[in-house]
Amino acid sequence: MAATILSGTKIAAALKEELTAEIAALKQGGVSPGLAVVLVGEDPASQVYVRNKVKTCHAVGMRSESFVLPASTTTDELLHLVAGLNSRDDVDGILVQLPLPAHVDTKRVLLAVDPAKDVDGFHPVNVGNLSTQRPGLVPCTPAGVMEILARSGIAVAGRHAVVVGRSDIVGKPVAMLLTNAHATVTLCHSKTADLPGVCRGADILVAAIGRAGMVTPFYVKPGAAVIDVGINRVTDRPTFERLFGGDAKREAEFAEKGSTLAGDVDPHVAEVAGTFTPVPGGVGPLTIAMLMSNTLKAARLRRGM
Ligand code: NAP
Repeated sequence: MAATILSGTKIAAALKEELTAEIAALKQGGVSPGLAVVLVGEDPASQVYVRNKVKTCHAVGMRSESFVLPASTTTDELLHLVAGLNSRDDVDGILVQLPLPAHVDTKRVLLAVDPAKDVDGFHPVNVGNLSTQRPGLVPCTPAGVMEILARSGIAVAGRHAVVVGRSDIVGKPVAMLLTNAHATVTLCHSKTADLPGVCRGADILVAAIGRAGMVTPFYVKPGAAVIDVGINRVTDRPTFERLFGGDAKREAEFAEKGSTLAGDVDPHVAEVAGTFTPVPGGVGPLTIAMLMSNTLKAARLRRGM
């Protein structure tokens, strides 16, 4: 039986509708949440991400302010900007778009963001809050994974969750959130022995690896929920054929653009899994929605609401 597709696009739309109503209600009470977005340099992908974030702010009625700086911006100049944003009462969230240029001390800049305004949830204070289950700001993509599970009615407590990938921004926080939600969690990485075997033990399998279609049906227990965080651009024909051969829509896209987006999960997993998230249209749309949610949360937490 084919797996049920979990549409992140639909879940994100429902969430954004709720956020729009909450922001409108806050505004009536005199609080207008605001997000500051800092972009350094001209990385085309970062420009697209920032544009989408600002667009979504407008869509949900959130104030946003963009700071677009040249690639030559120094660490000190960024620290000065962040200090200014930290001290402004009308700024609830500060997002520094990564990656920063190589000459910038990224860790120092991220550490300078006030944890109360750290809507990316990368500050060590928020990492500690998450790990010790204190109120705080949770990284957007991992929070989006949990939102998909919750809104799709996928039970987490008592189940075995396997997370593949241990990055600070995705794998580790996902594992922490699943642990806090009472799953029994196994966190895998490139040194894990018998990765397919470990993955086959999963009721919930989260892939955050960065390798197109690495998770094949061989990795999946029949009926498992598979959440695909990966976003990879496939440009070579053999990989395209392996993952999307026979898919007319993808064929047309590949012929036109010379590439297509793939997750870390081979779409053929649909033949084994119970539910799975597609790429695109799965976890991706939740990431920006959770950024809005985090900014709203920051606005409330800062005011003790
Ligand atoms: P990352 O920092 O490169 O981490 C990748 C992780 O995967 C590492 O822990 C690595 O293990 C592990 N890994 C790599 N190859 C492996 C293999 N062959 N077997 C087992 N584990 C392996 O990547 P990331 O930032 O976490 O991102 C992961 C993916 O999610 C990427 O495709 C990225 O584009 C995507 N992403 C999507 C969103 C979204 O909004 N949907 C947001 C962020 C990231 P080691 O630690 O041992 O090296």
